[in-house]
Amino acid sequence: MNAVGRETPTRGLSVPVQPIERDAAHLLDALEAGVLILSRDLRIEYANARWARWLELAVGPGTSFASLLHENVAFVQDELRAALADGEARTLHLNLLGGRDSAPRRVSCCVRVAGDGLVLEAHADADDERVALHDTARRLAEVTDMAEVLRTLCDIATNQCGASGAAVLRVVDHQGEVVAAAGDLLPAQGRCFDLDGSLLEKAITEQVIVSESQFRDSGRPLMRAVPQLALGPVILAPLHAHGETLGVLAVARGVGAKPFRAREIDRLRMLADHAALAVHKSMLLMQAQSADRAKGRFLATMSHELRTPLTALAGYNELLCDQVIGPVSDPQLDILERMRSVTMHLSAMIEEILSFTNLEEGRELVRPSEFLVADLVRASIAVVQPMADQKKLSLDVVLPKSPIRITSDIDKSRQILVNLLGNALKFTDTGGVRVVVSKTASDIRIDVTDTGIGIAEEELTRLFRPFAQVDAGLTRRHGGTGLGLYISRRLVTLLGGHIQVNSKQGVGSTFSVVLPLAWDGRN
Ligand code: ADP
Repeated sequence: MNAVGRETPTRGLSVPVQPIERDAAHLLDALEAGVLILSRDLRIEYANARWARWLELAVGPGTSFASLLHENVAFVQDELRAALADGEARTLHLNLLGGRDSAPRRVSCCVRVAGDGLVLEAHADADDERVALHDTARRLAEVTDMAEVLRTLCDIATNQCGASGAAVLRVVDHQGEVVAAAGDLLPAQGRCFDLDGSLLEKAITEQVIVSESQFRDSGRPLMRAVPQLALGPVILAPLHAHGETLGVLAVARGVGAKPFRAREIDRLRMLADHAALAVHKSMLLMQAQSADRAKGRFLATMSHELRTPLTALAGYNELLCDQVIGPVSDPQLDILERMRSVTMHLSAMIEEILSFTNLEEGRELVRPSEFLVADLVRASIAVVQPMADQKKLSLDVVLPKSPIRITSDIDKSRQILVNLLGNALKFTDTGGVRVVVSKTASDIRIDVTDTGIGIAEEELTRLFRPFAQVDAGLTRRHGGTGLGLYISRRLVTLLGGHIQVNSKQGVGSTFSVVLPLAWDGRN
């Protein structure tokens, strides 16, 4: 790997401490940062322990720095010489040769002129940071449920910050609350504490990382609330995303443990920044889901409440129309008929909303029975015939010669067919609607074809989504909830079949339902 003319680093030797005092050398070795001193001719004069670890070997005095580089040797040398010439600090990203059998290491460092030579100060092993970041992003992306996100976050924080426990704290109703915890902080899980004088309050109001070296002796509100916590050093980083402070991420070590180092504090900061986004995303999802559930409950309650008086209205209307109470004049009968049609329309809409909420909550059960397909088609035609008559549209049925028996849920099958027929008639003004039934070895197929307005190709994929209406203006003319096709598709799936559409704008549409001949209701 070494280029011709480059020296091989000497193994097994250390750079002598000279001219640095022995104590200072110990101090430099204890640093998380890598410190390297180069002479004017770019040879190593001193490397602290961290640099030696990165190089995975001890480098000899006078080793050429270039011989330690895996790539960009000329560029790095030019930059170092330029720093010596202009005295300006610069940042360099180095790819260092690893030790025997190990891959090159990436290190970012700041180069400064010091005395006659250069000091290269690298704050972190770039590989470690990248791996940690990648691991954090990957693990947080895998979970969406809030409790799971917070639990994962506590685990990651404990591991990556060299802690013995971690927790996420939030302000809830003017109090602090430990919403998730791991390790030594587990006894605090779910506990509330006063905000006044707490580290949580300080981190949130000052928007900075805060720390305590002996938490057990601090008399902080959390300590008072959970006296069994045996915590020594503690650090807290605010979780801040999209202008909102969502809480804090805390890591801790046991009583008597070493304080957190600069690198671990940096890790916590990085973790908190990443985690805040994941927590925010999960919060939005939770809010959307709870709003969706609330909407579902509201729709279900409203539909139930509306259905009862509507049924009564339909009943009274029928009594009047059938003239059971007494004779009514023709103009009165005409008005009663209109009332009946409006009531039926309202009932159909309410039934649709009820079906939707039942399906969404998984409450729709399949009740299989054996029946003749001809009976199913006849019953469905009977429901929509008045609409065809009113619009003066033809309504034809083509059945196979021999009767077909199937085992399925007849009510759901009828609901699907009535919906398709209703749509076909609704969106057709001239011509008519034809139902064709055919059979294969294992399925029946029902095609509902109309000569109506048709559907543009780009709209076809949207059709089966809830509340999807192709053209709001047009649909307003025709009314409807935009739920019919969505419900039909869900019901067909529940019955083990599928639904498809073929349509040409201005020509007409065919909606086809395929159902298995025998379905026991087990999906
Ligand atoms: P709704 O009819 O209550 O609006 P649907 O889910 O049954 O809701 O239908 C969604 C949309 O699909 C309709 O608003 C209409 O734009 C279009 N559509 C459905 N069936 C047909 C059809 N046979 N011909 C033309 N457009 C249709």
